[in-house]
Amino acid sequence: MTSSNVRQSSTFIPDPSDLQLKTQNSKLITIMTILAHPDDETFAFSGTLAKYAAQGARIICVCATRGEGGDISDLSDATKETLGQVREAELRAAAAVIGAAEVIFLDYIDGTLHTVDFDELVGKAVRLIRQYRPDVLISFGPEGVYGHLDHITMSKAAFAAWHAAADPAAYPEQLADGSLSPHQADRLYYFVFGRQTLARQMQQVAELGWTPVGWAADLINEVDLAAENTNWASVAQPGAMLGSTDDHINTAIDIRGYGDKKHAAIMCHRTQLHTHEPQRYFIPAWFDNAYHLETFARVNPDGTTHHTSDPAEWATEL
Ligand SMILES: [Zn+2]
Repeated sequence: MTSSNVRQSSTFIPDPSDLQLKTQNSKLITIMTILAHPDDETFAFSGTLAKYAAQGARIICVCATRGEGGDISDLSDATKETLGQVREAELRAAAAVIGAAEVIFLDYIDGTLHTVDFDELVGKAVRLIRQYRPDVLISFGPEGVYGHLDHITMSKAAFAAWHAAADPAAYPEQLADGSLSPHQADRLYYFVFGRQTLARQMQQVAELGWTPVGWAADLINEVDLAAENTNWASVAQPGAMLGSTDDHINTAIDIRGYGDKKHAAIMCHRTQLHTHEPQRYFIPAWFDNAYHLETFARVNPDGTTHHTSDPAEWATEL
């Protein structure tokens, strides 16, 4: 992709009734997300999913757990016993807002993914890739966004499944009755929580009149954004770093026009919001004005990613 896509993508809106255009339109693809928790895709890149869904893509959300191990922000929303059920419903609601076609749970328990049988986990993802035959896979990066072991495990599983799904020698029992066949998903992306880009966007959000809290405040106020090993006050995992330096990004999707969808999807995750005054944290206008880039690293087949420090080199389409 070149920077010329920047100019094309903002104005190129296909007419869904035009079949010829449809067949030529690269957005009419299947995108499968492979993630750990019911809110992972929503907070990270639901603007991208909503944008592609609106332009004809089929979105399949694969979620390994129901988020039952997390904290509950308000005990009137859920109990320890009902949290998994509530969070499943939250993801299904968010997926409907985004325009996702399907949500599939792998039925693992939140917080345990680094302890489960990895081959079995990969096999479940492989089966779904062979069934739904996505063009694009999206997971988190190997840093797990902030060192979360579930995120790290799903990143590894997504990468392994990307290759294994195409390999007839991998999980051959899935192919035995002929109903599934190997499938090579064309592209795998890792979501990148790019610190400099986010800091810049948060600075602009602050200029809109918002007082950043938590990690957003850290981004603006407290940390060395270029450091690879900064400890972050508001990060859950002690010693973990939040996100990545910007040079890990090689793809950035502009979600302007989909801010209302991203905001509405976030609002579905009521048990994940640390207040019932959500407007304090997110308003649609931010996503359409300041906080409008969702950033990714397209992954090479050998697991490396192309690093660039020049945003002009970032691809603007998945
Ligand atoms: Zn998560």
